[in-house]
Amino acid sequence: MNLINMAKSQGKEFDQAWVDQTKEEIGADLMGVLAVTEDSHPDFLTGVKTYLPSAKAAVVLAVEYSSETMNLLQLPKKFEGKVPAGALLTPHVNQLVIELNTALGNLTHLLKKQGYRSLPFPSRGQPLLRPADFKKAPNYAKALVSYAHIAEAAGMGTVGTHSLLITPEFGTRARLAALLTEAPLQTTKRIDPIDDCTHCLDCVSICPVGAISMPAANRRYQVAADKCKFYRERIDNCGMCQKACSYATGHSEATGGPLIADPNFLRQTGNRSTIVDPEEL
Ligand code: SF4
Ligand code: SF4
Repeated sequence: MNLINMAKSQGKEFDQAWVDQTKEEIGADLMGVLAVTEDSHPDFLTGVKTYLPSAKAAVVLAVEYSSETMNLLQLPKKFEGKVPAGALLTPHVNQLVIELNTALGNLTHLLKKQGYRSLPFPSRGQPLLRPADFKKAPNYAKALVSYAHIAEAAGMGTVGTHSLLITPEFGTRARLAALLTEAPLQTTKRIDPIDDCTHCLDCVSICPVGAISMPAANRRYQVAADKCKFYRERIDNCGMCQKACSYATGHSEATGGPLIADPNFLRQTGNRSTIVDPEEL
């Protein structure tokens, strides 16, 4: 008997135990659920209404980035004699996308087999809204469903200053995908709701194009996604903000804690004088 039949036959809700079991069965490292309610965030409700109005819940899945890969990433100025980020990160991300989307496919199949309509949003398959001036600013396309924000509301972690999810398990080394479903899943709650972002601003310092700014008083983050995208396309990936954050939040296996392995890591590369102008790349 599969897990949904088990839950139904035992008269149980789709609770935390079901989430824990299902996560293992489908092959995800992390799984969180956000139920759709009248009190849900308006942006979330707009996403639900747009894509699957009958949805009762959203599920976010995550797989872990390799800390070994992330530890080897370097800024362009340090490329000489070293492996550039793209040579390692891009193939690794390709592998993670397959892993994550396989887990998402397994979950979609599991729920649909039980008669629950379910809409998967794969990793790299996030639907984007095209702004009116799309031709003038093609990189400003905005995601209608934010995996990171759903994950935060599902108790999976905190959206940090770099606008990425920071999880208690892997820090910011978590790649996400999502799904809307008619299955009446319960919101997963976090036992120790803390702010996973230390507000150290290392991500702000390390970004080679100044894409991450210190947020204004009324903002949690300010990220120029177009600058980041342009830069990553020009140099074949980056990931430096994730690397810096992994150290800052104690999720780098190489250091075993929040200390930066190379004490000059941020000092040499992260001050504003080293910002790379994308136009000059
Ligand atoms: S590097 Fe520091 S400020 Fe930036 S997201 Fe991570 S913990 Fe927050
Ligand atoms: S991936 Fe690189 S360019 Fe993009 S925000 Fe992070 S540090 Fe900046």
